[in-house]
Amino acid sequence: MRVGLSVDPPLAAIPALLGEEGVDVYQTVLRDPGRFGNYGVPEPTDRAALVEGLRGRTVWGVAHGSLLVNLASPEGRIRNSSVSSLLADLKVAAEVGLDAVCFHVGYAKGHPSADAALTLATRKLGELIGRMPAGPRLLIENSCEGSELGQTIDELFSAAEIDQLPRSVSSIWWRKQGAYVRPDQQSLYVSVDDGGRELIFETETGAYQFCETRDGAHRCRSSNDHRQWRGYVDPPPRR
Ligand SMILES: [Zn+2]
Repeated sequence: MRVGLSVDPPLAAIPALLGEEGVDVYQTVLRDPGRFGNYGVPEPTDRAALVEGLRGRTVWGVAHGSLLVNLASPEGRIRNSSVSSLLADLKVAAEVGLDAVCFHVGYAKGHPSADAALTLATRKLGELIGRMPAGPRLLIENSCEGSELGQTIDELFSAAEIDQLPRSVSSIWWRKQGAYVRPDQQSLYVSVDDGGRELIFETETGAYQFCETRDGAHRCRSSNDHRQWRGYVDPPPRR
């Protein structure tokens, strides 16, 4: 996990603030977040100061879109303004080298069903992606409040699409009944029980570890002799 700063414009202040706090991740806004129109958009000189101040530094930055964005709004005017304000943010983000623009998809409020809202949001999202400039990514921020959309993965993708997404098998199978082969095929993890006992085989060398929770920590041993337990380590990948 990386901890960052949330800094409102002027953008010119950001490089020094990051330096003072010793962080390389930040969030900002590229407009007055309470409005749709282009109010409070950083001036060209301010944008240039950010670019100049971060030159040669590896910094990850994200802009938060307008809080009024609602791609699912029953009102066409709001859906269209949502798209145009995000496009404008993406353009500035591309210019100043931000890595992403994040936003909240919208609300099911005003629709007979969440599905009706998702249909509208999906259409607008497609339009947004089709028109966005190269460079910054568009991040859908997960949400939690009331009828807000974007709370679950299946709101975003169909079951078939979820099945096709690349994901970590280990995070699903880890410490469950069953076996897991690491993607490099160099180690095989076999769960022994639900209590976290597992056997880890290195398939090329036959080396093994047996691990279990001892005194609150995941401890492993690699031999029956001496019964020496040590801290858990993933077998290092071989070339
Ligand atoms: Zn947010």
